[in-house]
Amino acid sequence: MMMPVNQAETKILDLTQPLDAAVDREMISLLHADGRILAQDITSTLDVPHWDNSAMDGYAVRFMDVKGPVGNRPTALTVVEEIPAGYQPQQRVGQGQAARIFTGGMMPEGADTVIMQEHTQREGDRVYIMEPPSRREFVRHRGEFYKAGQVLLRQGIRLSAADIAVLAAAQCPQVPVYRRPRVAIFSTGDELVAPDQPLQPGQIVDSNQYALVAVMQHTGVEVTSLGIVPDDPDQLKTAIASALAQSDVVLSSGGVSVGDYDYVEQLLSELGGTVHIRAVAVKPGKPLTVATFEQGERSQLYFGLPGNPVSALVSVWRFVQPALRKLSGVTTEWRPNFVMGHANQVLKSDGKRETYLWGSTYYLNGSYEFNPAGGSYSSGNLINLAQTNSLAIIPIGQTQIPVGEPVRLILLG
Ligand code: AMP
Ligand code: MG
Repeated sequence: MMMPVNQAETKILDLTQPLDAAVDREMISLLHADGRILAQDITSTLDVPHWDNSAMDGYAVRFMDVKGPVGNRPTALTVVEEIPAGYQPQQRVGQGQAARIFTGGMMPEGADTVIMQEHTQREGDRVYIMEPPSRREFVRHRGEFYKAGQVLLRQGIRLSAADIAVLAAAQCPQVPVYRRPRVAIFSTGDELVAPDQPLQPGQIVDSNQYALVAVMQHTGVEVTSLGIVPDDPDQLKTAIASALAQSDVVLSSGGVSVGDYDYVEQLLSELGGTVHIRAVAVKPGKPLTVATFEQGERSQLYFGLPGNPVSALVSVWRFVQPALRKLSGVTTEWRPNFVMGHANQVLKSDGKRETYLWGSTYYLNGSYEFNPAGGSYSSGNLINLAQTNSLAIIPIGQTQIPVGEPVRLILLG
């Protein structure tokens, strides 16, 4: 029985238990925090800005001294001090006085407004205000952007450059993040050889191992590559057990179809796993086995991916990556990056399964345009998958999407 794609997606996410923020965490330097997932809410004891400061090069003044109409007699003030950035003002700005101030300079006591330099004229220790300001103009007030004690960044976000800047500004040089999920990968098949081995008649190169390692590295997990396991139940059983012993999630490819040498599902049950999904109504990628293993409080996930290279990758993009995002502690968005677009060629399917076509998507004249990859759309043809960046989806029951009509796309990577 083939499970519809949406149901499989929901089931897999339901089976996925996030890492435990209390246990599965580590402190890391901000210098290595890119892409990591925050394991707790972050608050700072510092206001941002830390003190009132000037947003302009100009003069710090008392608004009440300069608010009057300026006709042909501009207001004149006495400059009592010069305040570059990083300097603590020593003078109070009193009536009829001003302080020369530079961008980022700390506002002196008494002053509440900054006049930009371009609106002044300077003569000795006198400054003439040529245009009246509005009250509190060009002052960045203490705590205006962030007040100490509030939540600065939420648990479950994936840190990027901007977040890291914020953490640095808030003086958090070390941050608590989730540890990376551990994923073990192996390939199954008597016909497989490693890329550096001579190829005998009937053999093929194990490309899946490399593709899966790459996509896992991109997902931010710690990946272990366990090599090739032959279609031998005993060796396969040992390999599955050892993969489970060293990981949160296991990915194997091959051996999950209905052929005589497809042993994976049966072995999962023998090893005490519960098989939840056997096949999904998706093309490519129909034979997908999803099982769980209970380890005390925790549950481990096993994905038996199809052997066909394109099917294996489509299954990972559609089903495995979302699960790994959830597992890794991300609370924001687990699902693939879906966007609406259109295709520049008619897209076809037999209508029996939800169909994924691979190709290149460009943002053209305000919308996403999908260009199908040239060549044959066979799940065994991995050559025309090279340099694609997206999948176009034809819903089940639909046999074509005409040129220019709305089509749902997944942007990859
Ligand atoms: P299977 O699911 O084991 O029946 O494999 C389906 C197809 O995918 C067969 O043509 C296999 O030779 C091919 N295949 C299986 N594993 C791999 C792999 N690791 N790399 C490339 N092709 C594979
Ligand atoms: Mg096989």
